[in-house]
Amino acid sequence: MVEINQDKESHSTLHELRDGARRDVEALVEFELGVEGLAEDKAALLGSYIREDIHSAGTAFSELKTELNFMERRAGEWLLSAADQTAIDWLWLDLCLHKDSGQLMASETVCDQALHCLNCGASYKAKGLVTLSPCDQCGTRFFQEDINRH
Ligand SMILES: [Zn+2]
Repeated sequence: MVEINQDKESHSTLHELRDGARRDVEALVEFELGVEGLAEDKAALLGSYIREDIHSAGTAFSELKTELNFMERRAGEWLLSAADQTAIDWLWLDLCLHKDSGQLMASETVCDQALHCLNCGASYKAKGLVTLSPCDQCGTRFFQEDINRH
């Protein structure tokens, strides 16, 4: 009788976990659909800006790009928060151990160094002794030093 109750409990727990996972996936899909809908709305708005004023279109495109980058970063952070932290730590350690000698990471210290973001290509020039922070444009933590532009 006890075993039957334990089976029912484990079945119920498994069922709850499956429902929870399904709700999380549905929430993620809704979020992505929301982002797509937002992009479609922004595209329609961008079209009207182009007809009215080409200068406004440039501003709207810049705002759209910033907004989409923000949404992409938030979605990535959300997915990482749901992932197994140990697996993420191992990936991070692997990246740290196998990075190229010309690659720099946020929290490293550089001195009078020109570098660019490995993700978006944004250029930076460290004047004096500087501790690197994640890229201002995209949040990436990896940079490549520019050897020719000290
Ligand atoms: Zn970047």
